[in-house]
Amino acid sequence: MAVLQVRLFPDPILRQRALKVTQFNAKLAQLAGDMVETMEAQRGVGLAANQVGVLQRLCVVKPEDWDEPLVLVNPEVIRREGEREVEEGCLSLPGYRGMVNRAVRIRVRYQDLTGKQLRLKADCILAQAIEHETDHLNGILYIDHLIAHDQFFRIHVNEEGDVEYLPTGEPDAAELEAAARRMHQPSAGGSVPQFDPTSGRTASRGAGDATAAD
Ligand code: ZN
Repeated sequence: MAVLQVRLFPDPILRQRALKVTQFNAKLAQLAGDMVETMEAQRGVGLAANQVGVLQRLCVVKPEDWDEPLVLVNPEVIRREGEREVEEGCLSLPGYRGMVNRAVRIRVRYQDLTGKQLRLKADCILAQAIEHETDHLNGILYIDHLIAHDQFFRIHVNEEGDVEYLPTGEPDAAELEAAARRMHQPSAGGSVPQFDPTSGRTASRGAGDATAAD
């Protein structure tokens, strides 16, 4: 397995709709394995194939407290219930977070790596991550769902390890690249929170029990 390069906003592939997977073969399993490794290396909770430059409807998710990742092929959210405000980040927009509305509970239909049809009910971080990743497969980013323009922040981890939120306008290309470089040097620039889009450290922002997805 290999760690793949994560495409950064505004890479146009992030705005393209991925194609349905029809071949359930070793190549697909290899891609899924590489995506899991990439997600774990960058401490993300999820990753969609567009983010590694492949336009196939495939994503992987792994909430922090899970041992095994979940691989979803051709995922489709078939039901959404409720609404909640959550904080969210994305490995393709390192160093930023924003507040978005997500469903409380979802039901998703997907296939596994053998092509078997499956269904899943999800809530909390798993639901958020699956909504985030299925959006990616449709060329949608979380910044499209911001509750308000000013609910988008640059984040900075200070010396105490606290996350500071700096109001920002648009994502800045130079900043994204710098943050992406830091992702590959975990010793520099603080630890987890910066790159863990989920983190669940939203209490101070009054966002309920929400956490973010990647
Ligand atoms: Zn993302």
